[in-house]
Amino acid sequence: MTFIDESIQILKRESYKITGPRRAVLEVLAEAEIPLSAYDIEEHIPENIPINVVTIYRVLEVFEKVGIIHKIHTKEGYVRCDFEKQKGCHSFAVCSECGRSKEFVQKECKLETQLPQKLVYKSLSHISEISGLCKQCA
Ligand SMILES: [Zn+2]
Ligand SMILES: [Zn+2]
Ligand SMILES: [Zn+2]
Repeated sequence: MTFIDESIQILKRESYKITGPRRAVLEVLAEAEIPLSAYDIEEHIPENIPINVVTIYRVLEVFEKVGIIHKIHTKEGYVRCDFEKQKGCHSFAVCSECGRSKEFVQKECKLETQLPQKLVYKSLSHISEISGLCKQCA
C-alpha cells in the first residue's frame, strides 16, 4: 500500500475526515526527499487548492498525532513515517548536509527501559535523531 492510502486508512480509523488540505499535504509529503517545513509544503501545493501556512500547521499536528509523519528537529521539517503500523521507537539518521533522513524502528527502546526508576513518567516519548553525513555528502 502507498503512503497516501495507508495514511488515509489511519486517519479514518482515528475519525479524521480526509479534507482537501489534508490530502494535498499528504501528496506533498509522499513525494518529498528531505524534511519539509510548513512553508516548504505550501510552495509545493497546487495553486487551485486554497491553503495557508496556519492550515498546514494544523494538518501537520494531526498527522503527527496519529503517527503518519515525524518532525525532524535538526532540520525543522516533517517527513512521512515509513513504519506507520509498527509500534516501538521510531528514530532517524539525518544527513546534516543535505537533510536526507532514514528512519529505523526499535521494538523496544533501550533509552526508555533504562530510565532510572525514580524518573518514571506516565507517558514517555522522546526524540531520537542521529546526525551525520549520508553517502553522497561524505
Ligand atoms: Zn515512524
Ligand atoms: Zn547528505
Ligand atoms: Zn527510543
